[in-house]
Amino acid sequence: MTIAIIGAGMAGAACASQLTQQGQQVRLFDKGRAAGGRMSSKRTELGYLDLGAQYFTARDEGFIAQCQHWLRDGSIAQWQGRLGRLEKGAVIASPDNTLRFIGVPSMQAPVVALLKSAALHTGCQVDRLAFDGKGWQLFSDGISLGVFDQLVLAIPQQQAEPLLREAGVIDTELSAVFTMPALLPCWAVNLELASGPWPYDGIFGNANSPFSWLARQSSKPGRCNGEQWLLHFGAAFSQQHLDADSRDIAGYAIEAVQQLAGQTLAAEMTLCHRWRYAQQNPLYPRYGMLHRPELALGLAGDWLNGGRVENAWLSGVQLAGELVR
Ligand code: FAD
Ligand code: NAD
Repeated sequence: MTIAIIGAGMAGAACASQLTQQGQQVRLFDKGRAAGGRMSSKRTELGYLDLGAQYFTARDEGFIAQCQHWLRDGSIAQWQGRLGRLEKGAVIASPDNTLRFIGVPSMQAPVVALLKSAALHTGCQVDRLAFDGKGWQLFSDGISLGVFDQLVLAIPQQQAEPLLREAGVIDTELSAVFTMPALLPCWAVNLELASGPWPYDGIFGNANSPFSWLARQSSKPGRCNGEQWLLHFGAAFSQQHLDADSRDIAGYAIEAVQQLAGQTLAAEMTLCHRWRYAQQNPLYPRYGMLHRPELALGLAGDWLNGGRVENAWLSGVQLAGELVR
């Protein structure tokens, strides 16, 4: 069986790794410069900055075993950031016993490790699909990327839908999966502060705050030194300001940080990034993954399985199991 996987984020990589171990021939295509998807640290002259996923946790037995493997091969490390949370307008300590992991030296490291021996084509955006009733042909910029027995889409819902629609395979079952948006946006702003006014490395916002998360980059091994702080705006704020100018978003971030500190802080934007498809819509149903043997098609991704890195991995692994069965 020849299998094409579009998307080399955690879900696509987990699926590819399982299938390869079972002796299947897999080729992956990703439009990014490297594997990782939303698990991505940006390389800057200051060092790596985490703009997407901040850390991940492990609850499922299989994923715990996978994390132990990554810990042994050095592609992840435990992050023991001191945690705080916003309560009644003030930041208070909020420690817990949860184990949290990060990729080292950058967030994409565990995805890269899964794809160590994979046939991965990066910088390759698949923009057209054709299904002839038996197999799939993939195209990028008018050029055929090959014909495959099976196709796996491991890309965000809103990016999968137009490809499948144009291929003419969206029936009632698939239509239901695409009716409600699964992923909501997130604006990410990295700020350089003159000083860090909190004795914390990660601060959770709450339902009343525009931001959902604020973190000190230097608390993570391999990242930037100094007072580089990453702020994530919540889904409501990000949706409302989806088309705003990044300078305005940076202004809101500085305002939020100053309000949190209760003082004027010298702050400057280092980076600003809009994630259009970032976090799970809490109203979206949980499918796990989707396998349509008669269409030689599988769909995997965090969006089908409740969001989060762990759920992306589980979705990819589950689909691989279905495909070989
Ligand atoms: P993705 O990582 O999105 O991978 C999809 C891949 O498909 C991408 O690499 C993309 O380049 C590629 N692609 C898309 N379309 C095409 C195409 N047409 N052709 C070729 N390639 C294509 N999770 C946590 O557990 N903890 C966190 O702290 C956390 N924080 C987050 C913060 C932010 C700002 C964001 C955006 C996400 C966060 N997440 C977090 C979620 C986590 O990053 C995701 O659950 C997980 O990385 C999703 O993996 P995936 O493989 O399903 O999708
Ligand atoms: P987790 O168990 O650390 O966090 C889950 C949620 O529990 C947090 O969002 C927070 O509300 C709460 N929480 C956990 N520990 C807390 C503490 N010590 N004090 C106060 N509140 C605490 O991790 P997880 O379940 O693996 O979730 C991953 C994280 O990724 C979540 O924080 C989630 O919001 C975040 N995420 C963000 C985006 C985005 O686009 N910004 C996308 C996906 C996931």
